[in-house]
Amino acid sequence: MRTYQTADSLRKALPRHKSIAFVPTMGALHAGHMALIKAARQGHEIVVASIFVNPTQFNESTDLDAYPRTPQEDAALLKKHGCDFLYLPSVADIYPTGFDTSAAAGIDFGPLTATMEGANRPGHFDGVAQVVSRLLAIVEPDTLVMGQKDYQQVAVVRAMVQRLDLTVRVLVVPTVREPDGLAMSSRNRLLNPGERRAAVLINRQLSAVAAGLAAGWPTQPLEQFALAALGDHELLDPEYVQIFDGDTLLPYVDGDNVRELVVATAVRCGQVRLIDNRIVDLLHNP
Ligand code: AMP
Repeated sequence: MRTYQTADSLRKALPRHKSIAFVPTMGALHAGHMALIKAARQGHEIVVASIFVNPTQFNESTDLDAYPRTPQEDAALLKKHGCDFLYLPSVADIYPTGFDTSAAAGIDFGPLTATMEGANRPGHFDGVAQVVSRLLAIVEPDTLVMGQKDYQQVAVVRAMVQRLDLTVRVLVVPTVREPDGLAMSSRNRLLNPGERRAAVLINRQLSAVAAGLAAGWPTQPLEQFALAALGDHELLDPEYVQIFDGDTLLPYVDGDNVRELVVATAVRCGQVRLIDNRIVDLLHNP
């Protein structure tokens, strides 16, 4: 694996005649990220990963400061899993003329960012679109590989790709979980043992909502029950548990004709904010 710290040097090194899959990350890598690397390996000649803790997508400076950084372990893990190129840029390399420049600046994502994380983290998705558009311009991959764990992020990036008329394909990989069901996340390593045990409830409640939906139960009591169950735990403080139309990301209203439902949540667990979601595939769960 070859590592580059500047856009110029990476650009020069990448073999443009080969198919390239790209996995952008913020580091503190785990098996969820490695599932993206594995998916990238399949069907592409070159796998590129980036590690960049993007300041413009953090709406809380304490979250940015606390974000785990483990570059040496990350590089070893990427190499072991067959990554070919690692891009480890500085803030100045990604934003050479300051934070204002972005092909994605000013895109109005409308309802796609009106709910979930968009509603709870002001400016977050503008920052995500900004950094992803910049990274895509540098790497120019055939395929961008992303995790379903960040469901709304995928929707926003797909919309940005469409809006900017980019040709990149977006490949989504299912969420990888710990044996007890907790979605893998770089932030999990910030949890103390008690918080880690409590965090198991997040997936448990999402599973209960998903099962209820598949069985045809009404939306509101399912949401309210899960919210209350999470809130009852002394170490958990849920921000939302809500069921959405997976395509529009608008809140689901019972009886709406939708392809896929997603139940999503954000929960504060001590100082750490965790997100998770479950898809309910109505076509296969009539
Ligand atoms: P992050 O480093 O958290 O910005 O994540 C980088 C990429 O990995 C994003 O596309 C995430 O959706 C994806 N990802 C993070 N956690 C998981 C997981 N548990 N399973 C699958 N993909 C994940």
